[in-house]
Amino acid sequence: MLKKAVEKIQPYTPEVPLAKLKAQLGLDQMVRMSANENPFGTSPKVKEAIMAWDFQEARDYPDSNANQLRQAVADYLGVAGDQLLFGCGLDEVIELVARTLLEPGDEVLEPWPTFSEYKLHAQIEAAQVVDVPVNPDDGQFDLSGLLAKITPKTKLLWLCNPNNPTGTFIPVDELRDFVAQVPEHVLIMVDEAYVEFADSAAPTSAVTLLPECDHLVVMRTFSKIYGLANFRVGYAVFPKALIPKLQAVRLPYNLNDISQVAALAALGDQDFITQTRQRVAQARQQWADFLETQGLKYYQSQTNFVFFEAPNADALKEALLQQGYLVRGGLQPDWLRVTFGTTAQNQAVQSIIRDFYKK
Ligand SMILES: *Cc1c(COP(=O)(O)O)cnc(C)c1O
Repeated sequence: MLKKAVEKIQPYTPEVPLAKLKAQLGLDQMVRMSANENPFGTSPKVKEAIMAWDFQEARDYPDSNANQLRQAVADYLGVAGDQLLFGCGLDEVIELVARTLLEPGDEVLEPWPTFSEYKLHAQIEAAQVVDVPVNPDDGQFDLSGLLAKITPKTKLLWLCNPNNPTGTFIPVDELRDFVAQVPEHVLIMVDEAYVEFADSAAPTSAVTLLPECDHLVVMRTFSKIYGLANFRVGYAVFPKALIPKLQAVRLPYNLNDISQVAALAALGDQDFITQTRQRVAQARQQWADFLETQGLKYYQSQTNFVFFEAPNADALKEALLQQGYLVRGGLQPDWLRVTFGTTAQNQAVQSIIRDFYKK
C-alpha cells in the first residue's frame, strides 16, 4: 500500500517535550541545549504584538499571501516581494522544494553531516542522495568534492551555511567562487538558518550573490535567533520563475495570522537580534576556550552551538541528562552538539563534562 520510497525512510526525531522529560526523570529543572533555540528567549515586542492581535479574527482564514510580513522581509533583505516563499518553518520550505522539483532518480547533492531533512524529503520523492563528507580535520565543506559529484541528473545542491551540526561557515567570497562553478541545471539551496549568528565584518549572507546567480535560493527562519520556533515561520528567496509553481503546490493557509504578526514584530526588533548575536559570540568563545583546555576536538563554530568529539559520548549525554541538561547526540559516533545556554547553564554543563572526564 505504501509508496515504495517511503517504506525505508527513517523519521525525523523531534524534540521530547521538556515537561514530559522532567517528569520521567523526576527532575525539577530540565534545560534543552539540543535544539539550537535562542537561549535568551524571544523579543518582548513579540508578546506585545500577539496580545494586541484581534481575537475576532480567529474564525477567519489567515492571509494566504502573508502580505505585511512579505513586504517587511523584502525591504529588510532588499529583494522583491514576489521572490519570497513563506513556509510553516523552513521544514515546510524544504519539503515543498523536494515535492515540487524532484522526480524519481534525480540526484540531490549535500555535504555530510548536515541537516537531516534534506535527505528525508529527497528520499520520500525517490531521489538519490549523494553525500560528500566534510573535511574530518576542520569540519569544512569539501567544495571541490561537491563539484566533482555533479552529474546531468543532479537537481538540488543543499548547502547549509553556517552548517548544522558542524557549525562551520564559508564566507561569501568563497561561496561566490563556488557558486560560479555550479552548472545552471543545479538549483543551489543555501540554508541560512544560523547566518545571523555569524560574526564577521564582511557580509555573511548569500543574498548578496542573488544578482549574480539565477539558480540560487537563500533560506532563512524565525526559529533560531529570532526565538520563534513555536510559531513556525521560515522563508526563502527564489528565482522569480520558480515561485508560481511552488505557490501552487504549497498549502494555501500554511501560516496562521498570529505567526505572521509574531514574525513581523520579531523582525522589527533588530536590537534584540544584535544583543543576542553579541551574547552568543561571547558564549562561543567561552566554549572554545573550555574545549581547548579539556583537549577535546571541536569545529570552529559561527552558530549558537558547537560540535565536539566526546569519547564515550552516549554515557556523557546520559550524565548530562540525569542532571537536567539535554544535548544532542546521535549525529556522528562519539560527537555531541551543544546549544549555548546562559552563562550559568554553560558553566553547569562544562563542570559536568569536566567531572566526567576526570574519572
Ligand atoms: C532548525 C533548522 C531548520 C528548520 O527550521 P524551522 O524554520 O524551525 O523549520 C532548517 N535548517 C536548519 C539547518 C536548521 O538547523
